[in-house]
Amino acid sequence: MAQKPSQNFQQNSDVTIAGAGVAGLALAAALGHALKPNFRVTVCDAALSREPAADDRVSAIATGARRLLETLGVWQRLKGPVQPIREMVITDSRLDDVVRPVFLAFEKNEDPNEPIAHMVENRDLLVALRTSAQESGVVFEASAIEGFESGIESVEVLLANDTALNSRLLVAADGGRSKLRAQAGIKTVSWDYKQSGIVATIGHARDHEGRAEEHFLPAGPFAILPLAGKRSSIVWTESIEEAARLVALPPADFHTELERRFGLKLGEIEVLSKPKAFPLGFTIARKFAGDRLALIGDAAHVIHPIAGQGLNLGIRDVAALAECIADTARLGLDPGAPEALSRYERWRRFDTLGMSFATDGLNRLFSNNSGALKVLRDVGMGLVDRMPPLKEFFVKEAAGLTGEVPKLLRGEAL
Ligand SMILES: Cc1cc2nc3c(=O)[nH]c(=O)nc-3n(C[C@H](O)[C@H](O)[C@H](O)COP(=O)(O)OP(=O)(O)OC[C@H]3O[C@@H](n4cnc5c(N)ncnc54)[C@H](O)[C@@H]3O)c2cc1C
Repeated sequence: MAQKPSQNFQQNSDVTIAGAGVAGLALAAALGHALKPNFRVTVCDAALSREPAADDRVSAIATGARRLLETLGVWQRLKGPVQPIREMVITDSRLDDVVRPVFLAFEKNEDPNEPIAHMVENRDLLVALRTSAQESGVVFEASAIEGFESGIESVEVLLANDTALNSRLLVAADGGRSKLRAQAGIKTVSWDYKQSGIVATIGHARDHEGRAEEHFLPAGPFAILPLAGKRSSIVWTESIEEAARLVALPPADFHTELERRFGLKLGEIEVLSKPKAFPLGFTIARKFAGDRLALIGDAAHVIHPIAGQGLNLGIRDVAALAECIADTARLGLDPGAPEALSRYERWRRFDTLGMSFATDGLNRLFSNNSGALKVLRDVGMGLVDRMPPLKEFFVKEAAGLTGEVPKLLRGEAL
């Protein structure tokens, strides 16, 4: 790595994390809590110089991820309201169908006393994660990582603010377009869905009673997710061109288009936030680890939001990697050594591939108008609905509680 002539600081860290999104901060907090005070964790991200954006983004947090957040004291610190999802119904309809029959309904989590998931505002989550990480002694560097060079015993990381960090492990949590992944020469399998997800907050006259709905419309899934108060968040999939046209419409015309999909079951609706369109793609890294480097979150995999699982999958990476690092460090061994990293990779690879291809397959199966496919999927959904063990399996899978479940996802401290 070329040294900058102006480089003036040299610091040491056991683990350096690139990216202060949910994945990077959750890993920092997990390691900080488990290994303080003799283990130094540094998170680097230019975004740390400002408060997390108030951008109306929300996420459905599944059971496993919620348990991790509770164990780290993050859940208890959420400032804004948290809305439980008590029921989830799925329909397969055409746009102008007056009635949308329910083909599949989930009312229970694997623990019948628990909601299926909780809706949380991304901003609240980031604020609580930052506090939890800092309280556990994690160091924040408000600067992007420009480059790194892995050596036999350590990895040298260079920041945009000219700080150089000598670390035993570098974690790429720098999002779907990960610069670190590219710099490590890790290839990806990826494709573009040629779809965008339109996200907006909607107010409605009647209470949703904690019910989430996913309508499989010909252009793609249209999800209605309950928020606290008489509000819901929508994730509305359309082709890129159609989504761009829709978000640019005058408010009254957007309202009309929305009402055709949202319906009037919850009474009169009102668009409460400016609709935004996010381009959707699929990316999966061919390796989740390199020389003194581990990939987590969207840096390792970007999936379709059809099942609201992207961030949850990232938190599952966090739980597995934190456990591998903590076990290794407690034995006095090197957390960046190949043994620790290959354990992490083996742990996460299968689960990630399963979820990534399941969401991809669902999107392909449902984002079309073919009569034959409609019959096939409706029969399939009807069968799942009538087979409790199969339904239970899907619920457990979505909760992140299948296979060898890491401690933090079980709600146990590291
Ligand atoms: C429309 C839509 C709806 C979704 N809904 C859900 C949902 O309901 N549930 C769910 O589980 N998931 C959902 N997701 C997916 C979820 O938003 C992502 O999976 C998640 O935000 C990824 O988090 P991350 O921390 O891995 O990455 P990011 O949030 O992308 O964070 C990456 C961070 O890295 C920083 N960074 C970038 N480059 C560098 C660098 N060189 N050095 C240092 N820092 C750097 C960035 O500033 C950023 O802060 C949805 C996605 C979309 C598009």
